[in-house]
Amino acid sequence: MSFFPSRHRCCKACSQRKIKIHGEEVIEYYHRGVVCHLVGYDIAVPLDVELIRPGEGEIIAAKRLLERVLQSYGRFFDAVLGDALYLEAPFFNFCIDHGKHAIAVIKGDQRALLRDAQGLFGQMKPGLWDEPRRLTQFWDVEGFSSAEGVKVPLRVLHAYETITKRERIGKQWIETVEDHHWWWATTFPLSQLPSRQLWKAGHRRWDVENDLFNTLSAHWALDHCFKHDPTAIVNFILTLFIAFVLLQSFYLRNLKPQRRTHLTLIGLANELHFSLTLMKTHAPWLDQGG
Ligand SMILES: [Zn+2]
Repeated sequence: MSFFPSRHRCCKACSQRKIKIHGEEVIEYYHRGVVCHLVGYDIAVPLDVELIRPGEGEIIAAKRLLERVLQSYGRFFDAVLGDALYLEAPFFNFCIDHGKHAIAVIKGDQRALLRDAQGLFGQMKPGLWDEPRRLTQFWDVEGFSSAEGVKVPLRVLHAYETITKRERIGKQWIETVEDHHWWWATTFPLSQLPSRQLWKAGHRRWDVENDLFNTLSAHWALDHCFKHDPTAIVNFILTLFIAFVLLQSFYLRNLKPQRRTHLTLIGLANELHFSLTLMKTHAPWLDQGG
């Protein structure tokens, strides 16, 4: 993701791009980073960040990040989940060499793998998950060796989802039908991770956008750079991650459920912020009895 775009401030670690403002081309400076985020828990846990150096590819920085994350938090996860960029032999082999599985989205640039899987799945009867408002046909087969350079044969899961949405527009309920094709490749054998779990894990890739980046940008001033300096930027992001995890832990593990019904996580953050600015010595929710 990119951090702190600015047209005025830059440093030696800035990346730059040309953007158009009122039809005029200007240079925008920004920082790019890779974030490792633990998915599948009720708390959104960003573990670490690594800034991408100017001109550097994301995967190179991601490997640097993972080397560190594996050392500190390796026992917290079994697999690394990434978007289509991460479906490449050096990255998958890197995960395999470090004793982790890899899951990534398949896009058009993995032509051979996609073609083989499409060819085979075209002759197979799909599995079916029939849920209210969502019908999913899926194909899940192991043993594809068409991703060049990957040390192990890959398993491919294809899901064709038909989702019925009901919206109230004016005085009427309108039903719309959306369909989505998803393709994932993984090193996980079927015996270790059933189709349904792989499908769920694949979709959780978006947690990092929804739970993390959107929340942190909208409510936590992730887009505000207090000091434009490479070290300060990393420290600021990491401090924000710690505060975010601590606050969620307090909210979900310490507050009683009945307390939470009247207080959102953002509400709690606002209370804390408010009490800090007023230099109150204790938290306001302690006054409410219980
Ligand atoms: Zn900079």
